[in-house]
Amino acid sequence: MSLTPALLPDMISAVADTIEQNAETITALDQAIGDGDHVINLRRGIQALLAQREELSQMEDWPSAWQKIGMTLMSTVGGASGSLYGTLFLTMSKAGRNQTLDFPAFTDIFSQGVESVKQRGKADAGEKTLLDVLIPVTACLCQAAAHSNTCADALKNIPAVAIAGMEATRDMVASKGRASFLGERSRGHIDAGAKTMQLMICAVVAVLAESTPPA
Ligand code: ADP
Ligand code: MG
Repeated sequence: MSLTPALLPDMISAVADTIEQNAETITALDQAIGDGDHVINLRRGIQALLAQREELSQMEDWPSAWQKIGMTLMSTVGGASGSLYGTLFLTMSKAGRNQTLDFPAFTDIFSQGVESVKQRGKADAGEKTLLDVLIPVTACLCQAAAHSNTCADALKNIPAVAIAGMEATRDMVASKGRASFLGERSRGHIDAGAKTMQLMICAVVAVLAESTPPA
């Protein structure tokens, strides 16, 4: 069985559910060291994707679906996060063209996507942003692919890695985005963008885990 964009409606719904279930917590995080609008921004993107579920599920291949998702997020989310989500998916779309999407290929494509987010945000690990979740998750994928482990193995480890990355932002001092204006006072709060990235990754992984045969 191969994983096709027919999975996207379930993934988008799972993402929407987890963001709504955690909306108050996320808003409190963004209010503490940002401007409190992160859920509002993200919700605009998710609503747009919910409306596109049917169309996305019928896309021929993942790169086409990622392109549509990237353009939708880029044009609806706004804030600092919107262009970063858009960049992730648009880069993945470009990198994924004319590839057989096995697990190592996906890992490479995702790594390229995360690299482009770093460039776009002029940010790296340890700056208290959503990259503190994306970077360790990428490393986890790369490690599994390098050891010829299966996608199912990687899926088992990713949630804990994403949660650890999100938790690690608590003790960091922000050097990018609005939270950086607070300097040392940004310490002690989890970054809102890292929290939503962790929640979204965990939601997508849960859908994938149900659809991936254990190898
Ligand atoms: P804004 O900060 O413009 O209000 P959001 O509230 O939607 O936008 O998103 C804030 C999140 O975006 C932060 O919590 C952080 O994770 C992420 N972020 C902000 N700036 C950057 C950056 N330069 N690189 C990576 N991520 C960033
Ligand atoms: Mg904000």
